[in-house]
Amino acid sequence: MASEFDLIARYFTRPTRHTTLSIGDDAALISPAHGMELAISVDMLVAGTHFFHDADAYKLGWKSLAVNVSDMAAMGANPRWATLAIALPEVNELWLAEFSRGLFACAEAFEVDLIGGDTTRGPLTISVQIMGETPTGKAIKRSGAKVNDDVWVSGTLGSAALGLAHLLGKTNISANELPVFLDALNAPTPRVALGLALRGIANSCIDVSDGLMADLGHILKASNLGARIELGHVSCHAYLREKLTDAMHQQCVLAGGDDYELVFTAPKSQRAAIHQLSQQLNLPLSLIGETTHKSSLEVTFNDQKIDLSKKGFDHFG
Ligand code: ADP
Ligand code: MG
Repeated sequence: MASEFDLIARYFTRPTRHTTLSIGDDAALISPAHGMELAISVDMLVAGTHFFHDADAYKLGWKSLAVNVSDMAAMGANPRWATLAIALPEVNELWLAEFSRGLFACAEAFEVDLIGGDTTRGPLTISVQIMGETPTGKAIKRSGAKVNDDVWVSGTLGSAALGLAHLLGKTNISANELPVFLDALNAPTPRVALGLALRGIANSCIDVSDGLMADLGHILKASNLGARIELGHVSCHAYLREKLTDAMHQQCVLAGGDDYELVFTAPKSQRAAIHQLSQQLNLPLSLIGETTHKSSLEVTFNDQKIDLSKKGFDHFG
C-alpha cells in the first residue's frame, strides 16, 4: 500500500511557478514581490456539511481551491500560493487521482502553486489556505463603501442555490436543464480578472458565498451604511424568473449562496469604466442599487418593496 509520502508525491506535488521551496521540507519558502502585501485566507469543507459524501471528486478538487481563489478575487489580490490539509477516511487512489486533477485544473487556471499541506486519516475534510499578493494598501476591503456608491454584482445569481435545491429534493429540474445549475454549485468560476481590475475602481467588494443579502450585508455593516437594491436588476438564469414561483426565485437570488460572483460598490463616476470592464471581460456586470445613510438593506422587486422578514430566507432549511 502507498505510504503517505507516496500519495503526496503522486497526487499533490506539481511543478511551481512562483515558489522558492515547495513541498518536501518542513516548511515552504515564498517571497512576495517588492511593494506587495500578502492576502491570506483559509476555508474548510466538511463532507456532509459543505458537500455530499458522494460528490464528484474532480469537481470537489476544483471547488476546494476555487472558493479560496474567489476570496483573493474579492480582495483584488492575485492568487499565488496554497496549502492543502486533507483528512481521508481511506486511501482510495481513484478518488485521489480525480480530486487532484480537479484541484490542479483550478491551480493551473489561476496560476496558483500548491506548496504544502498535511494528510491525515479521518472523516473526509478538506481545508485549503491561500495566499495572494496585492500592492501594499490597494486591497479592496469590505469597509470601504461610501454613501451613494452604486452597488454592482457580476454574472448571474441563484443558479448554485437552485442546483442545491434540486439535490435536496426541494425542486425538480429536468435532466436537460440541470447541468448548468449543478455546475454552478459544484464548479464555480472565481472572478479573478474582475477583482484585479476593480482595484482603484471599487470602494468595497465581497464574493457571494452565503447569498447576496448576507454578503452585501457584510459590506454594509463594515462600512456603516445601508442600501437599496432592485431585485429586477439582478441577473439570473432565465429559468429562475420563468419557471420558479416568485418566492423561490427571490429566495435563490437573494439568499442563495455558493455563486462566487463579486458584489462591489463604486462611485457613480466609475460607471463608464465599469461598463467598459464588462465588455473587456465578457462578463455581465449589473447595477442593482445604491448605498444609503440608513443602516438597513431595502429590497424592491419591480419597485414594490419586498418584506424580507416574511420571506423566511432560510437557505432552504
Ligand atoms: P511534517 O511532518 O513536517 O508536518 P509532513 O510529513 O506532514 O511534514 O509532510 C511532508 C511534506 O508534504 C510537507 O512539505 C508538507 O507540506 C507536504 N504535504 C503533506 N500533505 C500534503 C497535501 N495534502 N498537499 C500538499 N502538500 C502536502
Ligand atoms: Mg504532518
